[in-house]
Order: sequence, then C-alpha cells, then structure tokens
Amino acid sequence: MPKQAESDSPMIVQFKAIKSQHEGSLLFYRMGDFYEMFFDDAIIAAEALDIALTKRGRSKGSDIPMCGVPVHSADSYLQSLIRQGFRVAICEQVEDPVEARKRGSRAVVAREVVRLMTPGTLTEEALLEARQHNFLAAFANVRDSIAIAWADISSGHLHVTGCPAPKVRPQLARIAPKEILVSENLQPRFRSLLDDAGASLTQLSPVCFDSTTAERRMKEMFEVNFLDAYGEFSRPEFGALGGIISYLELTQKGSLPLLQPPRREFQNASMYIDAATRRNLEITRSFSGQRENTLLDAVDRTVTAAGARLLETRISAPSADLNVIRRRQDELAYFRHWKEVRADLRSQLRSLPDIERALSRLCLNRGGPRDLDTIRNGLECAEQIHAIVVNDGIPASLAASAGPLTQCSVLAESLDSALVTEPPIHLKDGGFIAAGYDSELDDERNLRDEARGIILELQQAYAGQTSIPSLKVKFNNVLGYFIETPSAHSEKMLSKPLSDCFIHRQTTASATRFTTSQLSEIESRILNAGNRALAIETRIFEELRHQVVSEAAALAATARALAEIDVAAGLAELAAIEDWCKPEVTECGSLEIVGGRHPVVELSLSATGQSFISNDCILAGSDGGTRIRLVTGPNMSGKSTYLRQNALITVLAQAGSFVPASSARIGLVSQLFSRVGAADDLARGRSTFMVEMVETATILNQSDQNSLVILDEIGRGTATYDGLAIAWATLEHLHDVNNCRTLFATHFHELTRLSNRLDRLANSTVAVREWKGDVIFLHEVKDGSADRSYGVQVAKLAGIPAPVLSRANDILEMLEADEREGRGRVSSMLDELPLFSEAVESESRRQAQSASPVHLRLETVSPDELSPREALALLYELRDLMKS
Ligand code: ATP
Repeated sequence: MPKQAESDSPMIVQFKAIKSQHEGSLLFYRMGDFYEMFFDDAIIAAEALDIALTKRGRSKGSDIPMCGVPVHSADSYLQSLIRQGFRVAICEQVEDPVEARKRGSRAVVAREVVRLMTPGTLTEEALLEARQHNFLAAFANVRDSIAIAWADISSGHLHVTGCPAPKVRPQLARIAPKEILVSENLQPRFRSLLDDAGASLTQLSPVCFDSTTAERRMKEMFEVNFLDAYGEFSRPEFGALGGIISYLELTQKGSLPLLQPPRREFQNASMYIDAATRRNLEITRSFSGQRENTLLDAVDRTVTAAGARLLETRISAPSADLNVIRRRQDELAYFRHWKEVRADLRSQLRSLPDIERALSRLCLNRGGPRDLDTIRNGLECAEQIHAIVVNDGIPASLAASAGPLTQCSVLAESLDSALVTEPPIHLKDGGFIAAGYDSELDDERNLRDEARGIILELQQAYAGQTSIPSLKVKFNNVLGYFIETPSAHSEKMLSKPLSDCFIHRQTTASATRFTTSQLSEIESRILNAGNRALAIETRIFEELRHQVVSEAAALAATARALAEIDVAAGLAELAAIEDWCKPEVTECGSLEIVGGRHPVVELSLSATGQSFISNDCILAGSDGGTRIRLVTGPNMSGKSTYLRQNALITVLAQAGSFVPASSARIGLVSQLFSRVGAADDLARGRSTFMVEMVETATILNQSDQNSLVILDEIGRGTATYDGLAIAWATLEHLHDVNNCRTLFATHFHELTRLSNRLDRLANSTVAVREWKGDVIFLHEVKDGSADRSYGVQVAKLAGIPAPVLSRANDILEMLEADEREGRGRVSSMLDELPLFSEAVESESRRQAQSASPVHLRLETVSPDELSPREALALLYELRDLMKS
C-alpha cells in the first residue's frame, strides 16, 4: 500500500489502496448513486467521455481531480470506455453505510472491486453487439508449439486449437477476438503476429498458462475426472485454456461464467483463409471494417441474434469436411422445399429471445428477472418450434438437432408459473413473482397494499381535520412518507391545536412538510411489508436461478439447436428467394460453376434495378485439363467481380449454403488465397508493391493442388516490364509447381500467349462492345483474350476532362505504333526464357526514351506552320521539358 500523506481523507486513503491493486484499469469508485473517478483516472476519463472534470478535497497539497457518472446510466459510459480500449475496475460499496457509521464518524464504507470490465469479458446486453460474438483469446507457447484458445463468455462458447506459427495470424483473423491474453514472457517475435489482430493485448503472469494447473482446473470446472471425452489436449492447448480460465477468475472476481466444455478444433477441419484473403474478399468485414456490403451481410437472413452469430462463425470458417457440409445442405434443402414449414418457423423464431446471453448472465450472478423471463419465453418458443420442425420426412440430422428443444420442459413450467408477464429488469424493483405462486409473499403484499389504501384514507381525514383540501400525503427517499401543505397554510399548521398532532419536518419554498405518529406507524408497516415481500422475491429468484444454472448444459444445447435451425431456415429462405442452387461438393478437385453470380454485387445492382450477368467458371481436377484461367478484359468490364464471385461461391458452398449459380460442382477447397486490389500497409512499413509481393509470395509458397487461388492484376504496382516479368513467372510457377486452381486477371495482354506453351492454362476474356468511340460493358466472360484495355474510354466515363482525354488518345496511338515496330522482339521474348536479357533491357530503355516528353511534344509539331516567334517559344518549351 503506498504511503499516504497525512492530509488524505480516510476515503482517499481507501481509494488509493484499491487503486494500487488495479493500476492498469480506470477505477469506478461507487459513492451513493455515482461512480466517481479521482486523480489521473478522472483526467483520462473526463477527456475520453467528454464529461466535466471537477475537484474534491486535497492530497499532498494539491486539488484532487474528480469526475463521475451516474450509476443508472453507467452502461453507456462503460461502453464508450471499453470501445476506446480502456479497462474498468468496478468498485462497489460492500456494506451498509449504517454499519460503517457504527465504527465511528470517520469510518469509510467498505468497498471492493467486484469486477474488472475488459473488451473480452463483457456480458451486458447494452455493451455487446447482439449479432456478433465477443471473443476473448489466449495465446500459449510451450517449447515452440503454439495453441490458441478462445471463449465468448456472453454465450459460453469455448474453443481451442493447436496452431503452427505461420497460421497464428490467419487464425486470429478468423476469430476476430476483442482481447488477447499473452504471457508476460511472450517472445518478441510473436508480438507482431498478435498485434496484427487489432485486439487489445493483456499480459498475464506465466503461471496463468501453466498446463498442469489448467488441466486440474478444467476437471474441476466440468466436474469430470478425465477430459478425454472433450479431446486429447496438447500441453500448449491446456496452457491457452488455462490463460482463459485464470483471466476469467481474475476479472469476474470468483464467479466463473458458464463455459461449455472446450471444442477442440483440428487444424484442417475448415477451409484455410489467410488474413489478406479474408480482407480482400470482404467475407465478414468490408475494407472499412463494417459488416455492410460483405458476403456475410448479403447472405444473412437469420432472425435471431444467436443465429446471426452462428452464421458468422460458419461463413468465417467454411468446413473442409464433406459430411458436415452435406448434413447442412440436407437441412437447408428440407426447409427450402417445405415453404410453409419455413415460414411458420421463421415467424416463430422472430420472437425468440437470446437464451445464450441471458443464461450467461444468470450463471455469473449478474442476471435479473428479465433474464429469467428470457429463458421462460425461449423455452416456450423452443417447444413450438419443435412441434413445427419435427415432421415425417425430416432429415435425420435435423431431427437430432431438434432433440434438445423439449428437454427443459419442467424448468419452463416452473418459470412460467413463477413469473409475471413482463418482469422488471432489476431484482431490487420487485414485483416479478406472480400472485398466487407463494402464499407468504401474497400475505406481505396484501399488507403493503392495504396500508397504501390506509394512507389514502389518512390523507382525506387530515384534509378534513385541517380544512386544507390541498393537503397531500407524499413519499420521497429522504423523508419517507410525509404530509405536505402549501406555504400559505404553514402558520395555521404550526400553531395550536394542529401543531399538537402535526410534527414539523421540513419547509421548502412552496410547501411545509409534517408527520404524525400515526403516519410513522403506518409507514413502518408498509416498509416492513414491502421489504419482506422483496426479500421473499429475492429468495425465489435465487431458487429459480439455481434451477436455471443446474440445467445450463441443456439450455445451452437448446439455444444451439435453435441457432442451427435459424441458420438453416435463413439460408433456405435466401436460396428460395434468390433462386440459388445446391452445389455438389465433392473430392473431385475441379471447380465447375455454371451461371455463377456475385452475391454482393448482384444485391447492390438489384437495388438500383440493374441485373447481374451470370458467368461460368470451369477448372478441371488436378489430373488434367485447364487449371488456370487467365482473364483479360477492359477496365471496368468485370474481371475482379468474376474472380471474387467464384471464390465466394466456394466459401458459401463449404459453409453449407446453397450458391448463386444455376449449377455448381465444387471439389473441396482446403485453402483459399487471394491477391486482389492494392492497399499499402504503412503502419507495418510496407508500400503498396511490397504488400502485393508479400501476398503473392504467400500464395506461391503455400498453395497446393487442393487450393483455389485468385490473383487480380499482380505486378501492376511497379514498372511495366518488372510487373510483366513477375506476373509471368508467377503464372508459370502456379502452373508447373503449385498445380492449384487459379483465376488470374491481368492487363498484361502479352501473357495470353502463354496458353500456347502452358497446357493447363486457358484464356478467358470479358466481352465489351465499342460504339461510336464509347465502350459498352457486356460483363460476359468468354473463351479467348482481349485485344485492348479501353482505359481511355473508361477514363472518359469517369469524367476526365476532354483535353486530357484527347492528349491521352494521341499518346496511346504513338505508343501503340511504337510497339508495333518492336512486336517481333516482344513475341520472341514471350516464347523463351529468361525474359530479361541485356538486349531486352536496352530495348526497353530505347522505347522509354522515344516516349520522352520532348519526343512526344515534337511529334505534335508541324514546323512549316510555325512562325519564327512560335518556333522560338517552342524552343524554350522544349528546354523546360528537358529540365523537368
Ligand atoms: P478494372 O480492370 O478497372 O479493375 P474490372 O474489370 O476488374 O475493372 P470490376 O471491378 O470487376 O471490373 O467491375 C466493375 C463494375 O462492373 C462492378 O462494380 C459492377 O457494377 C459491374 N459488373 C461487374 N461484373 C458484372 C456482371 N457480371 N454483371 C453486371 N455488372 C457487373
């Protein structure tokens, strides 16, 4: 405990003592109806929350900065602080001030930190996104073996997986945790892997990651002697789970959340998608970090929050297991076929509350009557959904999923008989237990309510006795019940004979307040009965809460089943409305998409009344046939859209969804890679070109015959010939070594000639039509190659000024004429390697020189038409051009 200056008040001494144990957090120090912050915490919080910074008392000769937020609206302030990356320690009064006063006038009410709020440990509805998981992750490293565990304590999900170092970044990109736990001994080389996840990093003592202790703690937690039923966990996996459990104990101050037994994920259980690919394809987050305009957003037709969370999990980690995929497809096909069942189901699901999150709050002893109500309504809904879903002809897996839906019927009945229709949020408000449920409670309530009637009678009697019709009997928290008369009557009330009966309590600007011995007696009867009623309700609440907690596993299974049904019905709705087909997912290694569409672009086009042109994509299996499609076509013709749509269709198919195509046969994709668009990563010191090359290198090093690779315009971030050379060599490597299914879009038309030499490469082009010098986009992908880029025409569409366009056209003609002269050389270069001989370099230099600004300017001059004055001006101009 720090040494205190003598002048510190007992309260500040207490504050400092508690604060010293929570240095990394802002301390919300409870004082009555406010959470107050002092010293640096106050300065930081006042700025972060944009609230007034005041002062209170002095310490070591200086004013103590202070700011505060009302308890009743603390949630919104907490939300803002947590979003800004702060951690908050909630320090409550843990004794009655009356008790404290018994220890002397300077005694301070005992206070304790009851909870540490951090980005990864939230459970409050107001602080969470309903349709998104809030994951806390832990990174453990035991002798260079790494594991990652992640938990959502608001819904009880707990997962763990072993993870080689190169896969840490992709794994974290998939989980998107809000907070990552690491050991204080974390080796610096891992730091950057974790920093990239964009989550807040929390350091814990290395003992928290001790695998032996973690194993013991897990056995206690799940009340088993052996953990084998949950999987064979490695030491690093135990370590990572230990990190999560220790941190939850630390932050929840003893009350552990309900965690389901850990699900151990095998490394190859899902499609591997690295962080860059995830970002490039905008699977669950767009470039701007939002959910809007992503694949997830376009396909989400779920109607429950838990369903939306499950869909996000599936779309972020498409399965690589044929059985899983086919099971999901069967469920979806069933709901797609039975339109009425689907409609009934979805309308029923719409009223389903969030069972998982209410359950989690109740398990943490942080829930209220409204959470019990959520469980009650959720179970009632579950029974109705069971009745709708379970029919003849239901797929076996769906019948199995629906199994848990009726297993909590006893709990449902007892909650239903105990609770009123719309209980209040907070326990302290009372009034949530239904009349007739508990006779003792009914008695106390009657007493309390009768007394209220007596108060009304008393008011009438006093008004008559004093002849003051405006006399009222009122209540407030300070005085309790009191009699109030307007100031005009105060003299009369304070004089005999009335003053014998009415005892003066308070005078305000407009009224005078009194009590009587009779009123005090009735007040204590009311309060006692009210307090006794609340105590009984609290006891019943605890009993019901225990009943819920003891059925937590079954409730979690019910919630999970409902989420699965919601996802299947939502995807079925989408498939039916948008006319999507059931893809045949196989081990054949090919990709055969007929009439494919881009789900996000199609949606945005249809919003403006335009239609999307569907396209085929046929790539053969690894044993022969076309594995690489080289796509050329004008700017804006739809190359990127085509590439992405095929990647997204595989993601959807393996997530278990139907796909936007007329038919699709998809050989399981184990790894999906994309290199799309240009973005620099200045934060990590990488230029646009460097980012592009790092991503390309990853693809060349990691992709194999089960991978799907999307490469969009690689090589465009550097000088033309360097770019062409890199693109060319990349294509050859993908063809000869990786043998992966590849879609490769490029503006280097020279590359199309590679199809003569590389037998598994074929050319595709996106068709356009030219009309009166303008270009019309047809968005149709056909076999063959494009003749030109139409860049200048596209620039015209973008509004580039006419003089610039006309100048660009002149330059283009000159460049093309120049290239025609040297075509023989470029051709022969394309047919043989290596690309860059000395001769080629000097040729390119000559070409570059011939296109110098001076050269270009001279091309436009007609010497015979120049006056001497204009000729002189031209000379000056050329000299300036040379200089520049
Ligand atoms: P650039 O070479 O300039 O990068 P691109 O060929 O990659 O262009 P995209 O970005 O894929 O072109 O597409 C441009 C626009 O064309 C899209 O935003 C979309 O609105 C439209 N488009 C693309 N494909 C289709 C299609 N199949 N049907 C209808 N519209 C399409």
